[in-house]
Amino acid sequence: MLKGKVAIVTGGTKGIGEGIANKFKKEGAKVVVSARTKIKTKHYFIKCDVSNSDEVKNLINETIKKYKRIDIVVNNAGIFPFIEFKSMTEEQWDEVMNVNLKGMYYITKAALPYLLKRKSGKIINIASIAGTKVGFPNLVHYCTTKAGVSGFTKSLALELAKSNIQVNAIAPGVIMTPGVKKGLDKKTIKNLLMTIPEGRGGKPSDIAATAAFLASEESQYITGQTIVVDGGYTDQ
Ligand code: NAP
Repeated sequence: MLKGKVAIVTGGTKGIGEGIANKFKKEGAKVVVSARTKIKTKHYFIKCDVSNSDEVKNLINETIKKYKRIDIVVNNAGIFPFIEFKSMTEEQWDEVMNVNLKGMYYITKAALPYLLKRKSGKIINIASIAGTKVGFPNLVHYCTTKAGVSGFTKSLALELAKSNIQVNAIAPGVIMTPGVKKGLDKKTIKNLLMTIPEGRGGKPSDIAATAAFLASEESQYITGQTIVVDGGYTDQ
């Protein structure tokens, strides 16, 4: 149960982030969701591009103004544009670094003082099997960032281990979200799904269940881990 907890979920308006926000609310948390585009949501929405440090500072300040505390931070916002490395521009490379890695840095850096103040907290980073377990063609930049998310998670977990703050990551496999449906054509998705041992694509709720566990007191002795949730894809 997350009753009384205040959670921030970046990119919480769609896909995996939306699934996590809904699950946290169901478990009793007050949830702040952020994204670049405002859409109708049952959570408290604050507009924030995670790659913009001023907007991130505003997200944290507004959350504190509204709810007075932060207990759980989910670094979920991420982009995965499919681009072949040999034609990838420096701008395309930088954009993925700035959102997936620097965004996580900005959010965590700005939120951490509030977790330290409460002497407890949970940081959950959304990594991927891509980069941490397997490579994917046309996602060199993305895989680089997700391996980075895992390294960030382990190292920060060690720095915060005596502060009662657990830092973990989740590495989803193929999860059927607006981002995946937009980025891949139907045939590629069909072929990909056929390679998943459990015989289906993941749902945001599959990731949300793991996130809720990592956000709860039940997972107090788990830190620095990247937990794979992929229907067996990387067991093969
Ligand atoms: P999605 O369907 O594309 O949703 C992405 C969410 O992030 C949206 O709410 C989007 O809203 C927001 N967002 C994008 N760029 C942002 C930025 N610069 N600042 C703030 N918010 C931003 O993506 P998803 O598939 O749910 O993926 C979510 C996370 O899971 C990502 O980190 C992704 O790498 C990871 N992941 C996904 C899969 C998968 O198969 N789906 C697998 C492994 C890992 P706006 O566009 O309005 O900003």
